[in-house]
Amino acid sequence: MIVDIRVLRRDFPTLAQIVNGHSLVYLDNAATTQKPQAVLDALNHYYRDTNANVHRASHALSGQATRAFEQAREKVARFIHAPSPREIIWTRGTTEAINLVAFCFGRHFLNAGDEILVSASEHHANIVPWQQVAAATGAVLRVIPLTDSAELDMAAAEQLINERTRLLAVGHVSNALGQVNPIAKLIAMAKAVGAVTLIDGAQAVGHFPVNVQALGCDFYAFSGHKMFAPTGIGVLYGKTEWLEKMPPWQTGGEMIKTVSFEHTQFAEAPFKFEAGTPNIAGAIALGAAVDYLLDLDRAALQRHEHELLTQLLNGLAAMNDIRVIGRPQAGAVSFTMDEVHPQDLATLLDMQGIAVRTGHHCAMPLMQALGLKNGTARASFSFYNTADDVAALLAGIDKARELL
Ligand code: PMP
Repeated sequence: MIVDIRVLRRDFPTLAQIVNGHSLVYLDNAATTQKPQAVLDALNHYYRDTNANVHRASHALSGQATRAFEQAREKVARFIHAPSPREIIWTRGTTEAINLVAFCFGRHFLNAGDEILVSASEHHANIVPWQQVAAATGAVLRVIPLTDSAELDMAAAEQLINERTRLLAVGHVSNALGQVNPIAKLIAMAKAVGAVTLIDGAQAVGHFPVNVQALGCDFYAFSGHKMFAPTGIGVLYGKTEWLEKMPPWQTGGEMIKTVSFEHTQFAEAPFKFEAGTPNIAGAIALGAAVDYLLDLDRAALQRHEHELLTQLLNGLAAMNDIRVIGRPQAGAVSFTMDEVHPQDLATLLDMQGIAVRTGHHCAMPLMQALGLKNGTARASFSFYNTADDVAALLAGIDKARELL
């Protein structure tokens, strides 16, 4: 291990806290990650020294703000290997990014009988917008089911992807189970029938490098706050071909070329999709998070996260009353304890300063398919977690068992 995690942890002020009398063990990174000082500094610097609106560069500060804002777009484009920053649209997060595609693509390009294909493990953010599109257009929502080991059933996917499939919308990594879906294969299958592809990358970008060109997807959505940036900023990558064809959704200032009472001419993408004053500070801080990540040895961090995952899975496997759900590969491990409600377990862990999440993880259909009425407890990693964190969780579960 080339990177010293103990040194890296000093970049994240939140991690140094005492919670309920114990050093914080933060294992809720799939919900949101902590922020490094570099991101906090970028936010502070913008509001303290540069604060001005963008794209109205008639004075020095607005020129600076615009440059920093557009540089952040370029950084994000490089981060996911998008061919051009013009293919990067700022949104509030993954949810808004998917809703943008649902509105601008789904409602305008889908017709009755067209099929939208999602998977059984999707987050609600990649289900509900498509249900709404189906209701509005007469398109049909189809679902790739799970195998007995809770992975996507690729044989069923092969049957489901046909000439009626117009859109494939799947998650890169399941937030509930930490499984990496075979999206390259799914994208290739979808492209072979001429379907458009959208990938929900919310749980991927913070864990491993993503290359949208290599994937060949039409759209890729993610949230800043799950990759060390602030809340309220996210990204939709979209291929120029689609961004040119799609109409805008929200309208008003910033997204126009000319306006008269008779007619409005819209700006080009990406601005066409960014009505109103954007989250300038958030975008700049997301750019700072990208800089921070790209400065690190990401392959080493990925190996480190994998070691943590193996340590946790081995520890849980030695507990007879614990069942791990699915085959976790990145970020999150979902588990249940016999006869114990996940929330009771989480409360006893919280008393020991250990933060995990419980419930359905915004994936009710998945929990239903798995027969998990009360959901699961989920521990989710980031690279700043340590072997001591995993050991604390395992010991915490033992202690909870004693108390129950
Ligand atoms: N998709 C996945 C896989 C997620 O994990 C999340 C966040 N839990 C979302 C979508 C929604 O992200 P946001 O709430 O940041 O819009």
